[in-house]
Amino acid sequence: MVAALVLGYLSYQAALQLAEKTQVSVERSNRALGLKLIDRLEKVIIDTDRAFFRLVRLDDPREFRELWQRIVRVSAAVESVIVLNDTLAVEHLVAKLPAKPLKGFHRVFVKRILPDLELDKLTPDNHKHLHKEYDGKSYLLSFIRRRSEERDYFIVLSVNIPYLIKEAFPQEFHELEETSIISVTDEHGRALYGRPMSPPSKLRFAASFPTTLYKWQLQIAPRHAGALTGEVDARRLSDLALVGGAVGVIWLGMIVMMIAIRKERRANELKSEFIANVSHELKTPLSLIRMFAELLALGRSKNQDTSREYAEIITRESDRLTGLIDNVLDFARIERGKAAYEMVRGDLRTVVERATELCRYRVEQAGVKLELALDSDLPQTIFDESALTLVVLNLVENSLKYGTSRGGAIRITLVRDPAQGALVIRVADDGPGIAQDEERRIFERFYRGHAARVGSHRGSGIGLSLVKHIATAHGGTVTVESELGKGATFAVFIPLREAVAAP
Ligand code: ADP
Repeated sequence: MVAALVLGYLSYQAALQLAEKTQVSVERSNRALGLKLIDRLEKVIIDTDRAFFRLVRLDDPREFRELWQRIVRVSAAVESVIVLNDTLAVEHLVAKLPAKPLKGFHRVFVKRILPDLELDKLTPDNHKHLHKEYDGKSYLLSFIRRRSEERDYFIVLSVNIPYLIKEAFPQEFHELEETSIISVTDEHGRALYGRPMSPPSKLRFAASFPTTLYKWQLQIAPRHAGALTGEVDARRLSDLALVGGAVGVIWLGMIVMMIAIRKERRANELKSEFIANVSHELKTPLSLIRMFAELLALGRSKNQDTSREYAEIITRESDRLTGLIDNVLDFARIERGKAAYEMVRGDLRTVVERATELCRYRVEQAGVKLELALDSDLPQTIFDESALTLVVLNLVENSLKYGTSRGGAIRITLVRDPAQGALVIRVADDGPGIAQDEERRIFERFYRGHAARVGSHRGSGIGLSLVKHIATAHGGTVTVESELGKGATFAVFIPLREAVAAP
């Protein structure tokens, strides 16, 4: 049991580890993919910025204005370009905006954006970014300090964010979207691209852009993550069910084994009881026989009547001894599986009659009436004569022992039961009867019931098991009908047969 539990636990752990490893490897590749995407996007933004920075020439201010107005109009990636002198005054501002909004932007830039850029701290050719919301609008500003003809100036590009979302992102994400779910969310958790992942998948990877769009986050998850985690969970569950099943089967096996052991122990106890009972039963009649035989031999009887009485006791006890020895021998044969029956066609009525006569003396001596009612005109059938004699003797003996007190009666009947196609021997008494919960058990070998314990009657618990074995060997059955306090009726069904059944 312990070994099975350990094995079960180990296999469950192995399955768990395998599932975890699969998950870890999927997680890792998803993470690597996410980082690569972020890197690629940053590179696209930075490279574009650099290309624009390279285009800025300040040799001829008029030419600059014309050129840049064209560039900003044509290029989708840039929204505006601002050039500031070394005193941080705006020298040029070119934007994709009509006059009025342009003024607004100029104001916002000078008052709010410019201080945030901290241009005075910028070293020459140092390229930096500012990603921030102003009045609910997200700005990505890319700026650099340049030196020309001994004076410094600053170039600030305002990146076209709608362009990034609508053009640059789809371009970069497109080929991955078949296998991955990708989304970009802003600082408020709103999805700017794709759909937010809710509830977040276990395999989701999320990270901010490190230098450019650093207020935003990219989220990525394998498209079949749900199925994968589902599979892992299902696998875990099925492993658990398997281990549970195995443990259950082992428990069941153990319970069955315990029941068998208990049964065997009980059988052994019953056997020991049986040996003690049989020895006791043999000893009692033997000592009586011996005592009365000695009295007779010594001529101690007072008269003829006493001598007859002694002789009758000897006969009665010898009968009882013979009956007991017959039972034990037959039982031993059955136990060894050697109970061979001599099945012969005959008249069952004669056999029941003879068996009744055999016990009549004992029954009547006990002051009990023995009533016999045998149907005439019964068909012959096939049976073992001595076995069926034993059946009658045992049933009558039990009725006398447990069932009937002085003045009572034992009724033996033999009838034909057309419904069952059998002859039925019934032995009925009007004794205490048998409780319902005992009705099946009394046919078990060595079982001695309530009546035996209450009346301290002698016995070995094999009589009824013999009766049952004999009835079954004839293809019949034995039943008991009883009501507590109202007597018991045992019925043995012997089927009507034309020929001996082939072995
Ligand atoms: P034994 O008589 O040696 O105990 P049996 O197998 O013949 O063994 O009977 C089994 C049990 O059935 C008896 O111990 C007794 O409790 C019960 N029994 C049998 N016949 C009767 C009966 N006619 N009335 C009441 N109880 C009976």
